[in-house]
Amino acid sequence: MVNRLEIHSIWSGLVQAWRVIWQDAADPQRWAAFAPHCDRLMVLARQQGLTRIEGELLPLLQLLQGLTNPDEEDKAIVDRLLPGVFAAVREVCSESYEQEARGTSMPVLVMLVRQASAWQELIQQMEQYGYTLKVFANYRLGMQAAITARAIAVVVELGTEEDASVMMLIDELNRYGPKWFALAREANFALRLEAVRHASQGFFLTPLSAPTLADAVDPLTFKIKEEPYRVLILDDSPTVLASIRKALNQFPTIHTQTLRQPEQVLDVMGEFSPDVLLLDFHMNGCNGLEVAKIIRQNKNFESVPIVYLTAETSEYVQLEAMRHGGDDFLTKPISQAQLVNTVISKAERYRGLRKLMVEDSLTGLYNHVKTKTLLQQAILMAERQQSTVSYAMLDIDHFKKVNDTYGHAVGDKVIRALARFLKQHVRRADVVGRYGGEEFVVVFFDSTPEASFEKLDEMREAFAAVQHTYDGGSFAVTFSAGIANFPDLATMGELVVAADEALYAAKRAGRNRVMKPGE
Ligand code: GH3
Ligand code: MG
Ligand code: MG
Repeated sequence: MVNRLEIHSIWSGLVQAWRVIWQDAADPQRWAAFAPHCDRLMVLARQQGLTRIEGELLPLLQLLQGLTNPDEEDKAIVDRLLPGVFAAVREVCSESYEQEARGTSMPVLVMLVRQASAWQELIQQMEQYGYTLKVFANYRLGMQAAITARAIAVVVELGTEEDASVMMLIDELNRYGPKWFALAREANFALRLEAVRHASQGFFLTPLSAPTLADAVDPLTFKIKEEPYRVLILDDSPTVLASIRKALNQFPTIHTQTLRQPEQVLDVMGEFSPDVLLLDFHMNGCNGLEVAKIIRQNKNFESVPIVYLTAETSEYVQLEAMRHGGDDFLTKPISQAQLVNTVISKAERYRGLRKLMVEDSLTGLYNHVKTKTLLQQAILMAERQQSTVSYAMLDIDHFKKVNDTYGHAVGDKVIRALARFLKQHVRRADVVGRYGGEEFVVVFFDSTPEASFEKLDEMREAFAAVQHTYDGGSFAVTFSAGIANFPDLATMGELVVAADEALYAAKRAGRNRVMKPGE
């Protein structure tokens, strides 16, 4: 099992030490402080069989060993080697156990509990959520099964006299990779402490419901594959462009585009939609500051990170540039190691921000505004391709009663459960959004009206069978829905109104059903 956290922390220590050398490469003390970081990474790579990191590090370690009077040339060589090491670090960390485990069709969960027979219902419910749950009363057997089946996660019931030996099993489990969650009959601080000390991912109390368990393990299973980060580099020097591109292209997760003419920057940004802009500070005809101002005046690019590339070391000029919408500086000659670090961290942060802007915070589904935009796009596409789009509106039945009876927090859990359920049951290309409150929207692409209707009706029936838990027991919840189709209804406005009317017809007809317009 690859220990990502440890590798990442060694890498960041290494980069910090590198930054210090970068300022004065002639000082052997600085190199002496740098080398141990490289050694530690090598030791870890060898222990864990990370051959790619080992391979990238080897020339670096050899150079460090033979170093007596370090100079600028050594600095330049090491700086060219470091991005390769970083690329290996990132690759190794993303190639983790979870991704290997995902190859199988239904992810496997394992539970180690005192009484296996008590969990039959949960096994069935988890199937609705797309998981195979295996329950064992023999902890050791169960643990072996988890490892053999490459389980995504293991839930371990604690609170017995044998906890000490259970913890030893868990330590063993931790070395193989599946994440583990604690389960207990009561909230007990000492037990929680024991669990976190053994790297538990969470703590459940009985009764454990399918939505709660699915909610906790989903992030382990459905890591959406990120698109590569897009980096635009605007610089009038071909040499600078080439060297930056070369450093960044070592990362398969980065796409670069270069540009030499500042006057084209808005067009290119519009087409390429970069996650980071690397901007030369001094160009022929204008400077980076002015270009940044032009970019910031455009609403679409208000928050794209801008990193200046400059030979300017005056603090005043740098501050001035940051004031006008810059996010960071890289001083020429640019350290490639710092370059890749800066670019990746800015791009990650920006992606995260953009996600917040289109996501509903309770469920992670698309929010109202984004759902509408996606629907509009779906209609345009269907028009061009002469295909069909189905648009469904869903509303939970008697949801006020859920809140009134079990409390708002339990209500929130039901909303999350439905969100999760819908996402799990539609195709990847289909859109699931939360329209507000307990109302949801599903957009089915390229499916006949009959097929979409049937799919939705199946989901309604399956969701009604899901048990939601609260302190005192469990209950079920239903939803009603209306579904309408493009091109039967020719515009987005008509589509929305028709689906809404069908939804209310379904409510009037007694709820827990799906209806079409005109029924
Ligand atoms: P109907 O079957 O007619 O849809 O009945 P209903 O009770 O679901 O109807 P209504 O739409 O009147 O009530 C919805 C309730 O949902 C009102 C509101 O308090 C609750 N609600 C809206 N958003 C949230 C939320 O984010 N969390 C929780 N817990 N409750 C919410
Ligand atoms: Mg409702
Ligand atoms: Mg409502």
